[in-house]
Order: sequence, then structure tokens, then C-alpha cells
Amino acid sequence: MTESPPFVPTPLPPPDGRRRVLVLHTGGTIGMVASPGGYRPAAGFPERLRSALQATGSHGLPAFDVLELDPIDSAELRPSDWTAMARALVDYWERYDGFVLLHGTDTMAWSASALSFLLRGLDKPVIFTGSQIPMGQARSDGLANVESALLLAAMPELREVGLCFGRRLLRGNRARKLATAQFDAFDSPNALPLAELGIDIHLHRDRLWTRTEPRRFAVPAFDDEAVAVLALHPGVSGGAVDALVGQPRVRGLVLHSYGAGNVPANDRGFMAALGRAAARGVVLVNVTQCLHGSVQQGVYATGSALGALGAVPAGDMTPEAAFAKLHVLLASTADADAVRRGMGESWCGEMGA
Ligand code: ASP
Repeated sequence: MTESPPFVPTPLPPPDGRRRVLVLHTGGTIGMVASPGGYRPAAGFPERLRSALQATGSHGLPAFDVLELDPIDSAELRPSDWTAMARALVDYWERYDGFVLLHGTDTMAWSASALSFLLRGLDKPVIFTGSQIPMGQARSDGLANVESALLLAAMPELREVGLCFGRRLLRGNRARKLATAQFDAFDSPNALPLAELGIDIHLHRDRLWTRTEPRRFAVPAFDDEAVAVLALHPGVSGGAVDALVGQPRVRGLVLHSYGAGNVPANDRGFMAALGRAAARGVVLVNVTQCLHGSVQQGVYATGSALGALGAVPAGDMTPEAAFAKLHVLLASTADADAVRRGMGESWCGEMGA
């Protein structure tokens, strides 16, 4: 993902005292156009967005600039694209009061999680949004989502990475895409919404992230292949584990386990393969396949077996957040123990108490 020049921020200070938001367009349905092979990304979205907002009058919206990063279908996203997003936010952090990231819905939850871990201690809103129908098409949800995101990005009390879609603002690192075709495509199964978007925007102030800490922004280079994921299923084999962690660049494995964090502990081949991976220094992270609830590795013997291998229980983290956090940690340190410790800490609301 590269910046498509030229981007010239409007000069400071804004003439009318309005708050200023930078909109970063990374791709997704919202800016796509129809083609014989289906919707595809197209450049030039900033102009289309500006004229669409002008046509509605855009009264009450903050002042905004739009920066386009070589738009992609977010199914093509790689962890290294998070570097480009974080770079742009860090570069323009002081010039704006808030940020909106326009992103495809398919991997928006992964990117919102990753940015929350890269921008620890952030003191301004960073709001992800996109749409189910391209902007400009009949019944598109694009413009309304952008308008809501712009208003949220101008609220100084929001000091976290949020995901605004349809009728809700969710914590970014708690969000999951749960519906392919509904306008409310996202939910956060283990955390209540941060705001309801009806005629009014109702912020749940008691649910917002209020911990203040020094900014610890990071723009690391990611190895796209550092983390592998294995979803457990009846009959899953040691060979499947070996095939995944046998890739030399894999340094972390997210296991989507059953229920409270259980695996087929009596399958010697499966457990031996996990043991070989752990011995080679691969960090094992245990997330549950269940939508609701938490990994508790000691409840069943089938879960304790994973604990004995040093697997980190991910609590009630989403699989997307666990994957992104493991990537961020592996991109930041070569010390596997530090990675395990980091995975066990709650950084910015990604885990319940
Ligand atoms: N494939 C699209 C994307 O994630 C879907 C969307 O944006 O809704 O970029």
C-alpha cells in the first residue's frame, strides 16, 4: 500500500475554528466500481467523496482532507499494509484532531485491532468505516457511514480506535464481521457498543477507554508470514500442525480451540507436533472458536495440556485481535518470552478483566 501523490494538507489553522479530520482511503467496497468480474477498487475516490458530501450540504461536519493509499480489496490485505496505515497516521498526527480510515469490511476487524496495538496511548479518535454497497450506487450505506465516522472522529472524548458501521460504534479490537450482507455487518460479541447511531449519536461514556498513558506509537516492518492460524476440527492431525509451523518464517501460531480452550490432548501425534513447535520457539496462542466467553486453560484436562506446552490463553480476545497483537509483538521483539508476556496483558481494552 503506497501513498498516491499528490497530497497537500489544507493549511493550518482551519479558517472557521472547526475540528479537522484526516480521512485515509485504503480501499474496500465503499470506493469500488462495477466491472465484468465484479466490484473492483478504483483510484480517484477523494474527489467523488468530496462532491458527494458537498451535494448533501455536509452541515455540521468537521473540516477534512482525504489521503488515498493505493486502494485495495481488503481481502488482499497483508500485515505489512498496517505499516503504511500507521505511518500515515503518525506522520499527520499533529495536524489533525481525529482520523477516519475507509477500509474494506472483509479484514477491517484485523486492521482496527492492529492499529489499536500500534498506536498505544493515542489521545485522539481513529475511526474505521466502509460500506456494504459502493458509494454512489442506489441504497448505498457508504455516505452515511462516512458522515457518522467524521462526526465521531471530531469527538475529543474518544481516545481509541473505533469501528463505526451501520447503527453502532464498536471498540476496534473487539469487533468482528458477522454478516456478509447486512448493513449492521459488525458486532463485538464480548464487549458492549461504545455508541448507538440513531437520529442522535449516543456515546456510552462509561464504556469509553479512559486510561491515559504516554504515547507509544510503533511503525514496525512486519513479516507477513510470521503468524499462522490453525482452526481445530475433529480429526485435526499433527501433520497439519507440522505443515504450518514447518514454514521457517512462522514464529507464532494462533490455535482456534474448542469451548473454554480445549484441544484433542489424547492425540499423541497432534500434541507432539505442538510440542516440537514450542521447542523451536514458536509462540502458541489459544483463542476460542466460540463467539462469546473466554479461554480458561485449566478447566478441562484437554485445556491444561496446552498450558503445559506454554500456550498463552487469549482470554476473551477475538481471533482477529489475537492474530494482530501476536504480529505486532513479533515485529517488535525477538524475545519469545516478552511476546508471551505481552499477549497476556490487556493493552487497550482488547481483553476483559
Ligand atoms: N471485499 C470487500 C473488501 O473487504 C468487501 C467490503 O468492503 O465490504 O474490500
